[in-house]
Amino acid sequence: MFSKFKAKWKINVIESGKFKLDGGAMMGSVPKVLWNKTNPSDELNRIDLAMRCLLLDNGKEKILIETGIGNKNSSKFIEMFCIEQSTFPLKDELKSFGYELEDITHVILTHLHFDHAGGATYSVDDKILPTFPNAKYIISKSNWEAALNPNPKDRASYLHENFVPLKEFGQLILVDDDEEFLEGISGLAFYGHTTGQQLIKITVENESLVFCSDLIPLKSHLKIPWIMGYDLNAMKTLEEKSTFLTEAAEKNWLLFFYHDPKTIAVKIKKSEKYFDIIEEYLVNE
Ligand SMILES: [Zn+2]
Repeated sequence: MFSKFKAKWKINVIESGKFKLDGGAMMGSVPKVLWNKTNPSDELNRIDLAMRCLLLDNGKEKILIETGIGNKNSSKFIEMFCIEQSTFPLKDELKSFGYELEDITHVILTHLHFDHAGGATYSVDDKILPTFPNAKYIISKSNWEAALNPNPKDRASYLHENFVPLKEFGQLILVDDDEEFLEGISGLAFYGHTTGQQLIKITVENESLVFCSDLIPLKSHLKIPWIMGYDLNAMKTLEEKSTFLTEAAEKNWLLFFYHDPKTIAVKIKKSEKYFDIIEEYLVNE
């Protein structure tokens, strides 16, 4: 899947745990008779979601993209979202690949919703500390500001304990939209899901991988009208997705999914209606 990137990066897929969200909220106006075939729900109408991070290592920089839901969650929260993970998932997962928390030099967060940034900090002895003591945390300026002053629609997704300590400990780097902030690694800014979400594009020679985050959370969302009810602006997402996927098909980008429980990544081509998958990489393949 990542063979084209080996010239520059060793890439590890870090599964930081699973959780569930309401299937209707994930699929917006799409009726359950359709989405339940591809994303079957439990008795409480919830569907499975992964939290699949990426670790890039070039021998010097060790860059983690996204941090999962973390371990600061109350038992009520764990039950509501059916969180399935070890007590300290990032530590355990990184260790299984031979890394310690101290080894990570950069953490890139696509946006600060709790299921993406929860693992950015952890709690120890009543204190909340950055999980990666030696890392710079890279976040878009626009999303940082939105997270500090959220609107009522996505206020519940921005929990200060996940990101305010990063600033207090001097580990925060705020970047502009659409900036190349590390060599070959750029943000692509989108505003439909939330303000200033940045997808992460990694380019080696003429090959690119894009970490699709919540623009295309599940494989099902490759269908243009399948848009989350959580999004702040569904019409904006519709436009952004159409433009992004058209470019992804033309340029043969590898699209990496954070939330899809079965599919890690795909390549697509334009079809009559939407886009067809031409390459697919499954979990445990
Ligand atoms: Zn989100």
